[in-house]
Amino acid sequence: MANDEICITRKIEVHLHLHGDDEEGRARRKKDFETWNTINDNLFKVANLIATHQFFNDAYEFRAKIHSPQYTKIEKDLNNSQKLKLTQEQVRELEKEKSKLDKEIEEQRKTFLQCSRQNSTFRVASKLFLDVIPSNVLTCLNQKICSTYTSYKSEVESGKRTLPNFKKGLPVPFQMNLNKKLQLRRRTDGSIFVLFPKGLEWDLFFGKDKSNNREIVNRVLSGEYGVGESSIQQNKKGKTFLLIVVKIPKKAICLDSKRVVGVDLGINVPLCAALNDNESAKMYIGSREQFMKVREQLYVRKRELQRSLTTSTRGGRGRKQKLQALERHEGKERNWTHLQNHIFSKSVIEFAQKQNAGVIQMENLSGFGRDKNDEVDEGYKYILRYWSYFELQQMIEYKAKASNIEVRYVDPKYTSQTCSYCGHYEKGQRISQSTFVCKNPECEKGKGKKTKDGKYEGINADWNAARNIALSGKVEERKKKKKRKIQSNQ
Ligand SMILES: [Zn+2]
Repeated sequence: MANDEICITRKIEVHLHLHGDDEEGRARRKKDFETWNTINDNLFKVANLIATHQFFNDAYEFRAKIHSPQYTKIEKDLNNSQKLKLTQEQVRELEKEKSKLDKEIEEQRKTFLQCSRQNSTFRVASKLFLDVIPSNVLTCLNQKICSTYTSYKSEVESGKRTLPNFKKGLPVPFQMNLNKKLQLRRRTDGSIFVLFPKGLEWDLFFGKDKSNNREIVNRVLSGEYGVGESSIQQNKKGKTFLLIVVKIPKKAICLDSKRVVGVDLGINVPLCAALNDNESAKMYIGSREQFMKVREQLYVRKRELQRSLTTSTRGGRGRKQKLQALERHEGKERNWTHLQNHIFSKSVIEFAQKQNAGVIQMENLSGFGRDKNDEVDEGYKYILRYWSYFELQQMIEYKAKASNIEVRYVDPKYTSQTCSYCGHYEKGQRISQSTFVCKNPECEKGKGKKTKDGKYEGINADWNAARNIALSGKVEERKKKKKRKIQSNQ
């Protein structure tokens, strides 16, 4: 089951609810604040108490072991097994005995403590703090700290860590589902709150809600998403946040279908991504120099191998080996491009998810490399020879499908020659591979910053193209790939 869902934590600001602005309401609020402050002031003490008592449990066993002459002798013999020339049989026998003693000592501790480890620390904590900290919180905290302790244990023993200790400001954990009832609730007036133990009602405050928290909370309320153990944390500035753990079924991550990522496969930067509705979100992957360098090296080596095949031996000795070498090399080359495409496509999907975009638009490049279209850049042909764009697009497509992102192909015409700010099209606006300057006199943003000598710096041409692709409404059906190899580089 766990694999079918993704757990994410969202941080949402919360305020204690004001139950009416009359005297009664204010009194309740005052009391609520006191309750909260007491919890916050005591929680780290409980956490430390639990951790020390865990340590005490271990120390107890350790003490019992070193005080047992039998146990010490076995350990000593085992350590010196080589010196004593013990047979394998004898060693096995000793180990058996040792683990028997281990169990006995553990039992001893249990009778001494009268319960399991986790239970023992809970008892200590609740005995001292139950009147100030709700038992729901204590249970969660105890569980959390016991598991932290266990995971730290070996590192503590080997001296890589110290015992976990806790400061004030620790997140206060509590169960979001109490007796199968969701503690996140909606009031009749539509406001949403978390019912915290001791009757504290924390109102959720979404603010500008850039990360789409409201939508996620709505889906939790509707039952579409599950919740895990969550917590409430007060930061040093006194602001309080709900850290809600949401369990999202893998196929249902909510993405905004109006937000589009445009992907430009460029010459200068191999891949550039931009958004249709946000100018500041952009991503560039790879550099042409590095890309070309590796490709060129591979190409040179291939030429060498080919030449050695044609000039030196014609069916003679060594031909077979050389053919094999060439095949191996071709495999390497394919692997490398393949790997690059995997890395690039993965980054595109991650970018879309991070930006919460439900659509990816790419140029319909199936007609590429053939000269019928005047707008095809000469440089494209060069890079097409070296890189399988088609494969990259396919990878983006299937990875997007798995993440519920729609992929559309748009008409590639004019995407690199049009200003993404004002839509002005004119030849020569892309003044170099990397720079675009809008020629529309009224357009301000499309020219970039003005330099001292009155010229314009321009904007990044790849980003401009990516944005045009994201904004484009000219969606096309993607043509199927012809069977002949387009990217053959011979
Ligand atoms: Zn413009």
